[in-house]
Amino acid sequence: MKSNIIVVGSGVGGATIAKELSAQGLNVTILEKGEYHKLGTERSALNFYSGSLWNFCPGEKSKEGTEILRTVMVGGSSMVTLGNGVRALHKELATLGIDLEKEFEEAEKELAVKPMPENLMGERTKKLMTASKELGYKVKPMPKFIDFKKCRSCGNCVLGCRYGAKWTAQNFLWQARRNGAKLITGAAVDKVFHSNGEVKGVHVRTSSGFSEIQAENVILAAGGIGTPIILQNSGLNNAGDHLFADLLINTYGMLDKGGMEDEIGMATVIDTYHESHGFILSPILDTRLDMFLYLPLFKKLRALRRDRILGLMTKITDDNAGRVDANGKIHKPVTENDEKKLRLGDEISRKILLQAGVSPKSLYTTRVRGGHPGGTAGIGRVVNIDQETEINRLFISDASVFPTSPGAPPVLTIVALSKQLSRKIVSEYIKN
Ligand SMILES: Cc1cc2nc3c(=O)[nH]c(=O)nc-3n(C[C@H](O)[C@H](O)[C@H](O)COP(=O)(O)OP(=O)(O)OC[C@H]3O[C@@H](n4cnc5c(N)ncnc54)[C@H](O)[C@@H]3O)c2cc1C
Repeated sequence: MKSNIIVVGSGVGGATIAKELSAQGLNVTILEKGEYHKLGTERSALNFYSGSLWNFCPGEKSKEGTEILRTVMVGGSSMVTLGNGVRALHKELATLGIDLEKEFEEAEKELAVKPMPENLMGERTKKLMTASKELGYKVKPMPKFIDFKKCRSCGNCVLGCRYGAKWTAQNFLWQARRNGAKLITGAAVDKVFHSNGEVKGVHVRTSSGFSEIQAENVILAAGGIGTPIILQNSGLNNAGDHLFADLLINTYGMLDKGGMEDEIGMATVIDTYHESHGFILSPILDTRLDMFLYLPLFKKLRALRRDRILGLMTKITDDNAGRVDANGKIHKPVTENDEKKLRLGDEISRKILLQAGVSPKSLYTTRVRGGHPGGTAGIGRVVNIDQETEINRLFISDASVFPTSPGAPPVLTIVALSKQLSRKIVSEYIKN
């Protein structure tokens, strides 16, 4: 089989670039390792989160025990976002000479990003907002790519939205397919083949065995974990280092009485400490199964009393101290610097939760996990500012090119970078 352009992965970066290039009439084939899945239930989510129940967590465990969350399915991890849309790393990329102003504007328009309306915030969020303000913290509504007319505030964004209220990469995939792009699911790319510094195609594994697909251009978008594995297996041994994951902890407390409905998570944000101390705080409540899995034995029953729980997430800009090996093994230590940021976020969260009325004895902090893996094929290290590797016409279009941890929702930035890459490919590499 031959294709003009192969895109590996159908998540945020892959779907964006496939949509943009197919809109220019180019012959695009998307190879996706995962499949379509039913959305919105804990049971089906176990099929697409990359971890396993045997590990007692939905994510993959690093050698050091840090949990990394991602999904393997059509649409990638975009399917399980909380719909947060912010311009992460805008300034950092600008200092590298990458101006994304135009692309951010387009992305915000296409994803219909708007601030979370206050009248749709739930009781839990409002309680935390009031308590934060009483203590002098500045709270903002979170910008969201959610169609609030369709949203039922079920609080299950991380299981995939069954109401179609949230933007996902599947929206862009649908447009790409309408433009003529071909999507092959259940197709895991092992490596890229190349000769004399020119990309020639990919080696792919499907249910019917191994095959090779030739292509003039290959764009890897298998995510911060998937892409460096393919690169290393293709002989690019400079990939895999500098893994970040935007590490996070949740601080929980229980109200003595009163029950609360489920509601949209991360509806507000305290981001005043982002630049100065490297963390943000935002209201959160994990799913019942997730809570049950990670709570210690004597606290497991709390998973059944989620209606009385208030929670705040501390998400940090973590050190790029991790690594993904060619065999998929993840190393992600929590450095002293990371611990300092997490501790400070936890201290402030505890103050806010107490102010909101939780009982002091009920305060509990979850283990460290991260849901935004990236940095493993960073700009300036593995790719140049055109997102091209040392192999001609082998590009990367996902979070692995981020130069550093954003400590904030990355989707909008991945969309913007992928849009810019598609323009470069069209103008410099194909049309000339
Ligand atoms: C629970 C959770 C909530 C989140 N909430 C938000 C949020 O509110 N806002 C936000 O901005 N970000 C959020 N994120 C982060 C965001 O989802 C990711 O950063 C983003 O999806 C990464 O995009 P990507 O293109 O790098 O990778 P992905 O979107 O993960 O896409 C990678 C794709 O490649 C496929 N793949 C992997 N290996 C191969 C292979 N060998 N061959 C073929 N295909 C392969 C995967 O199946 C997947 O489809 C959240 C993440 C999680 C886990």
